[in-house]
Amino acid sequence: MTQGTDRSRAFSTLVLLAALLLLPAALTAGPPPDPLTETVAALQRDALASSRAWEVLESLTVEVGHRFAGSSGDRAAVAWAERTLRELGFENVHTEPVTVPHWVRGEASGETLSPFPQAMELIALGGSVGTPDEGISAEVLEVGSLGDLEALPEEQVRGKIVFVNQQMERTRDGSGYGTTVAIRGRGPVVAAGKGAVAVLIRSVGTGPQRFPHTGGTHYDDEVPKIPAAALAIPDADVLEAQLRHGEPVRFHLRLTSRTLPDATSANVIGEIRGRERPDEIVLLGAHLDSWDVGTGAVDDGAGCAIVTATARLIGDLPRRPRRTLRVVLFANEEFGLSGARAYAEAHAEELPRHVLAVESDLGAGPPWRFGTRWAPEARPVAERIAAWLEPLGVELSEDEIHGGADLIPLAPARVPVAELPQDASRYFDVHHTANDTLTQVDPEDLAKNVAAYATLAYAAAEIPDSLGPAPEVERRQGR
Ligand SMILES: [Zn+2]
Repeated sequence: MTQGTDRSRAFSTLVLLAALLLLPAALTAGPPPDPLTETVAALQRDALASSRAWEVLESLTVEVGHRFAGSSGDRAAVAWAERTLRELGFENVHTEPVTVPHWVRGEASGETLSPFPQAMELIALGGSVGTPDEGISAEVLEVGSLGDLEALPEEQVRGKIVFVNQQMERTRDGSGYGTTVAIRGRGPVVAAGKGAVAVLIRSVGTGPQRFPHTGGTHYDDEVPKIPAAALAIPDADVLEAQLRHGEPVRFHLRLTSRTLPDATSANVIGEIRGRERPDEIVLLGAHLDSWDVGTGAVDDGAGCAIVTATARLIGDLPRRPRRTLRVVLFANEEFGLSGARAYAEAHAEELPRHVLAVESDLGAGPPWRFGTRWAPEARPVAERIAAWLEPLGVELSEDEIHGGADLIPLAPARVPVAELPQDASRYFDVHHTANDTLTQVDPEDLAKNVAAYATLAYAAAEIPDSLGPAPEVERRQGR
């Protein structure tokens, strides 16, 4: 007893001493942190300690799985999202109908017939027509890029299966995708324009895994629609090596893909209403659809989980932010941005009151960069937010950004946009493959994303300054 009292007395003396020692420092350290900074710090702490995003992602990938536009998984995902947002206590939860294309993959197979017969891992590109039932057999013509293909005389291409063998570069910002993806989108039109009978591409992806990468392709009415497939990277290597032998390589391709009549899907929306200016919207977007392989955990289940957990976390604050946070889980991003276009149309009248839009659609790696496209006069707000993001390892980007694909239709209304992209170094190893599953996601990185998105979303919903209008952008090509 006595000993304890002595100890507590000694402790009190120490505390007093420490307080006296720290007093001058406290007097010179400037004002205490402002309430906004304190709230942001609390949000970050709570986000890093929470597993909510992981739980949402697990629920989506386990209970629904993949959810390609028009499929039964798509319908299940819409029901799942509506239910989940309600269960999490969002307000104004509802769906908005979206007409989507309905392409069905069917089966895909391919093999080299000569000089060395080998079965190949390949996958139809989204939207591809099928081959005749017996498949197509033809000699392979390899090109290094679409530019090389465009430069070839028609007689060299006619009747061939064109193999576009362009390698995608691994980069942290995912820019390797942007410089390569045209082989997938435009390969069939360019090849058909030269008389080719089918197209094979090296998968637009990275890594040595033997999973072919799908993704949307396009046709136009000027040239025949020819079947198109992507080879897994190791299989593209084998085909390339066979071609190096110098003898003609014959290939057999069979696809049973087909397009059905349009289907109906939906954007799913839920809100955390603002306390003071509920009509002003901070849009937090991700796309609910995925390709029809894997479970869409990385693309874009992670984004759905991040924005949902972010809005919920901010809604749990003792005092809500000034403006409304609106979570929008877009329908069919992957095969034509149908949900994004439908949203921009349905909410056209309201777009001037969208104070910021941000989309998470680059997987589940750690966040590392923060970029904006908003009024130049609001640059100090970006700098202020960047200072809050710094402890999370996120740096302010000077580059011009576009925001997520689903935000493209908001650009004509000059809605301010921001980006908090994930580190994409490994993203394209699994992107659009059967290997895109929950196993690829690190729960800690997911929580870090919520901390970063919550910082940005809270700031945009609370700081009274206007961020808009965003500078005008030239309309981007394609979909
Ligand atoms: Zn995506």
